[in-house]
Amino acid sequence: MMRIATRLVAVTLFFPLFAAGAQAQALLNLQGRDHICSFAPDEVLEGDIYSFASSKQANDMVADIMSTVGLVPRFEIFAANVPNAAAVIEGQQRLIVYSESWIQNTADNNRWAAIALLGHEIAHHLNGHTLEAGGSRPPTELEADRFAGFVVGKLGGNLQEAQWLFNRLPRHGSETHPPRSARLEAVAVGWRDATGGSMNTPPAPETSQDSPSPAPSDTLVGDWFVVAGSFPHSSTSEANARLAQLRQSGLNVNLVDTDDYAQFTNGLLSVVVASDSRRRAFEELEKVKRHVPDAYVKKGN
Ligand SMILES: [Zn+2]
Repeated sequence: MMRIATRLVAVTLFFPLFAAGAQAQALLNLQGRDHICSFAPDEVLEGDIYSFASSKQANDMVADIMSTVGLVPRFEIFAANVPNAAAVIEGQQRLIVYSESWIQNTADNNRWAAIALLGHEIAHHLNGHTLEAGGSRPPTELEADRFAGFVVGKLGGNLQEAQWLFNRLPRHGSETHPPRSARLEAVAVGWRDATGGSMNTPPAPETSQDSPSPAPSDTLVGDWFVVAGSFPHSSTSEANARLAQLRQSGLNVNLVDTDDYAQFTNGLLSVVVASDSRRRAFEELEKVKRHVPDAYVKKGN
């Protein structure tokens, strides 16, 4: 059993799976609450967090979700004593943790609820939210919700199935999370992006790495990026400073880990504006260049 330091705070999430037999548990040493992106508001957990091996179902769902955007998972998933689910960082390792107990008791084997939950948490990692100081906040939650709707749509679920989980959230938002109505809307938009809004049978899941599906345009799992600065992993604070500066200037920038993208040099945090087309990327480039003269456009996958 791995035994590391102690304290964790705020976490939140959930989903349906079976624990895969008796597994050793480990005490997690998670970065401060600043880097924890959770699913639901108002849930704070204090004390030690223990991780347990995830179920095969959970691992399979992660692979399915990643197949919709043609990316390789670069994070690990564990069951843990958290309220429902969260995207967290332990050292350099990106983790998704979820409560097997919560999901078994609540979701009653609702596969789509689990896909939506995992999709939400995965989006936090892919969009760099867990690299940013500040943890959960309404705009990043809505980005993650949109991706949740997107993956359910891509994998064949209908809109009601995509929204099932979100209908069980509290009506009012909080400092960290938007109100339920906004989250339902974000899920619907993501689902529409995946399906074209068709109420007919959705397309079969895509598995080919050669033809990744287009991701929702506001989600960073996109194709075209304006790169407005790259920093080594050891310079997270500089990357965050650039991010904050450009956001203040009104640019829709996010932080990505270049390890996620085949065409990028690995080992960097890049501040980027994501676009769903080459043309839009070059339009964005003009705006970015006013602040970062050496910004450039790069294809992500
Ligand atoms: Zn979240």
